[in-house]
Amino acid sequence: MDSRSTGGGQRRTPFFSRLQIKYAMSYLAILGAVLILLNTYPLIAAQNLIFTSKRDSLRSQASVMASALMELESLNSDQVSRVMTMLDSAGLSHILVTDPGGRILYDSSASAPEEGEEDEEQPQQEQYALLQEVVLALENNNVVFSQYQDGCFLSTAACPIVYRGMIIGAIYLSEEDADQGALLMNLQQNLRSISLVLVIFALAISAFFSKVLTARMRALLSAIRIVGEGEYGHRLQPSGRDELAQLAQEFNQLTDRLQTTEEVRRRFVSDASHELKTPLASIRLLADSILQNQEMDPDTVRDFVSDIGSEAERLTRITEHLLALTRLDSLPVGDTQVVDLAHVAQRAASMLAPVADAAQVEMALEWKPGCTMRCTEDDLYQICFNLMENAIKYNFPGGRVVVSVTRDGDQVLLEVADTGVGIPEEELPKVFNRFYRVDKARSRAAGGTGLGLSIVRDTVRRHGGWVTARRRQGGGSVFSAGFPYEARESGGDGI
Ligand code: ADP
Repeated sequence: MDSRSTGGGQRRTPFFSRLQIKYAMSYLAILGAVLILLNTYPLIAAQNLIFTSKRDSLRSQASVMASALMELESLNSDQVSRVMTMLDSAGLSHILVTDPGGRILYDSSASAPEEGEEDEEQPQQEQYALLQEVVLALENNNVVFSQYQDGCFLSTAACPIVYRGMIIGAIYLSEEDADQGALLMNLQQNLRSISLVLVIFALAISAFFSKVLTARMRALLSAIRIVGEGEYGHRLQPSGRDELAQLAQEFNQLTDRLQTTEEVRRRFVSDASHELKTPLASIRLLADSILQNQEMDPDTVRDFVSDIGSEAERLTRITEHLLALTRLDSLPVGDTQVVDLAHVAQRAASMLAPVADAAQVEMALEWKPGCTMRCTEDDLYQICFNLMENAIKYNFPGGRVVVSVTRDGDQVLLEVADTGVGIPEEELPKVFNRFYRVDKARSRAAGGTGLGLSIVRDTVRRHGGWVTARRRQGGGSVFSAGFPYEARESGGDGI
């Protein structure tokens, strides 16, 4: 989309209310959630896996050792040390074996001064294992604990040594695994690096897309403002096929319609003022002539005053027609009822009979029963009246007007055919336009306003119908209107 900027007068959108910021924020919120998951779930899962394998292996090692020691029946330091040296203790950092009272009988770290409290010179000195695991094991519990701390897995296990149902001691194992810890730290580090790359990438992408998107929205907003200021010729150039491009197309179509409506409105106002100006100018001229010419004979004065009266009448007719059109444009359809078209056409024909007589035009009405439709009676009368009046007005002395009311399936048809002056083929589509007259002089002479057929068309459409004009074979015109048929509930027919 492409559009000019309007410059001044635009409201600035607060920073956090900007669509661009909202988009960027939502991208970042989603990315944040993904990164939190990425940085926690794999680590927790790996940690749990390592914990489980460590606990299983420590638990089985403890039970193997407890079974071996159980064979001794009663435990003392020497026997225990002998058995323990024969057992595989690979990977274990500390092993303790105690008697039922918690006294240490074997301590794998006894030789290391920083780990053990006693040294090799005083092996007989009694020491007690004051460890929670040992206490629990001596209460006949198998316990395993593991934790991850400072990049190292610490696991401890303890189990009772049972001989014939008697607890004869406990064994305690501990393991420190820095290798697996380092692996986990490495994984954590890698995930952080990946996250960083993802953040930078997502920031760049979100900044780019939100900018492109909001630039197009701004173009649309600016175009709406330009059109809002009255420049109806302004259009957007839709690019792409996404929703914004569709929005731009809709905007252009809407502006097209707006421009057409505006042009019609302008033309209508200028035509209306012109139509009103002409009789007013005549009235002014006639009045001035009477005022300025003191010696005007009374017959001429009477003629002039009569002309003023006719012009005033024309003004009244024009304003009435204009009001009727405005009402059609702005007011909703009034209370409708099921009306018999033949009945209304007969009313209009009776009303126009003296006019037809004066014009020496013969008028005939043919109708079929049951031509009912939903309409307001006044609107339908107006349609019949205008079409019939025109058929008389634009006829020759001795001419004929045939009005027929029929039904064709689900349509009720009104046809007004005359043997009058006719309408040239190329003028036919224009006769329903406001203020359009085929023969201006004739229309004026006949008291026309150029609005009768516009009123007919707008009224017909209001009631879901259509109206057309065509040339009649053998001279004259035929105006046809169709309406949706609706049956009368009471079933009454006719005139
Ligand atoms: P007007 O008040 O001038 O009759 P209308 O809107 O009723 O205005 O009609 C528009 C023009 O269409 C008329 O000026 C006339 O030239 C032409 N017209 C309408 N009805 C007929 C007809 N039955 N025969 C010939 N010309 C017609």
